[in-house]
Amino acid sequence: MSSIKLEENSVFHQLGLCGHQKVVFCNDEDTGLKAIIAIHDTTLGPALGGTRMWAYKSELEALKDVLRLSRTMTYKAAITGLNSGGGNAVIIGDSRVDKSEALMRRFGRFIENLNGTFITAEDLGTNPRDMEYIRMETKHVAGVPESIGGSGDPSPVTARGVLMGIKACAKELFGTDTLAGKSIAVQGIGHVGTSLVALLREENAKVYVSDINEERLVQVAKKFGAEAISNNTIFDREFDIYAPCALGGTVKTSTIEKMKCAIIAGSANNQLADEKLHGRMLLEKGILYAPDYLINAGGMINCYSEINGYNKKRTMQLADNIYEATRNVLKKSKEENIPTNQAADMIAEKRISDIKKIKASY
Ligand code: NAD
Repeated sequence: MSSIKLEENSVFHQLGLCGHQKVVFCNDEDTGLKAIIAIHDTTLGPALGGTRMWAYKSELEALKDVLRLSRTMTYKAAITGLNSGGGNAVIIGDSRVDKSEALMRRFGRFIENLNGTFITAEDLGTNPRDMEYIRMETKHVAGVPESIGGSGDPSPVTARGVLMGIKACAKELFGTDTLAGKSIAVQGIGHVGTSLVALLREENAKVYVSDINEERLVQVAKKFGAEAISNNTIFDREFDIYAPCALGGTVKTSTIEKMKCAIIAGSANNQLADEKLHGRMLLEKGILYAPDYLINAGGMINCYSEINGYNKKRTMQLADNIYEATRNVLKKSKEENIPTNQAADMIAEKRISDIKKIKASY
């Protein structure tokens, strides 16, 4: 074992934090490609995860992001019962100016060299066209356009999973998963938020919507019979359920102190600014939190289905399983008096460890 002292921000220190199986640094002078592919865990199957293109301020920032994202994918797959592992990739650059066909195809060659241990799909800064370029070099990609056999926009599947998470929480707190008459604030009415608003209105919930895009806010409120509210006052008002569907990090000390809702359940990634601290704060305040990576797993489910031969009915069934998975998390949280996010992590880790033992006996 090396006796070298590792600084906190060193690459090797970061690599050692979460037990990643493999991290590949991709560099190509001709196309300007600088990317990192992180495979966190393949116990349950090939690592599935998006490729994000972002103008990171430093290589370390990109590394930290890809390590965190890939680990979450492992947990997301495990808890939703998919036979898939977790991975992710980041391309360092501004997607509006640095992207080219050659760069995406060169990146596709790197994925091809991983022999199917990593399968990618779109994420922030990449789109179905980019996946099509990657597909020209490797078959280990999902999220290609529907016209060439892809599964299309994952947002309706994500919204369906979020609805299941909301219903599971309602069942726990109100004794029924009927949402009729419940007041629900959806923050961020983009792809997922709008689909969710439609589903909630079908359930006859009283829906409030907020967004920084005023024009869209008025349109969506009118179309679905929801009430538009100011984004600045969302935590001053009383709702049964708060559904964050915009950016992460909205659940923090200052907002938890103000919150008057009974349930937090939405699609945004990384809703808790600090997992440990804010998971515990919510438990102590009696606010039921549906772990984000569980109830927003619809996007991953959609890609998983595409890889395994897309079938819309089966895909929706897998999204519906999020109801039972959330119920299990809430049960464990209650029995052991632990935050729901911690309960979710423990259930995911147990499935991986159980399957590892079975595989070891092959
Ligand atoms: P989107 O970009 O289509 O929509 C986001 C919406 O949030 C936009 O209307 C934007 O104007 C609004 N917004 C941005 N900042 C805001 C703020 N501070 N306050 C209020 N509104 C704000 O994104 P999306 O695809 O709908 O995804 C929403 C969230 O769900 C993201 O966090 C995303 O990472 C997560 N998610 C999405 C999927 C999917 O299938 N699309 C899957 C898993 C997780």
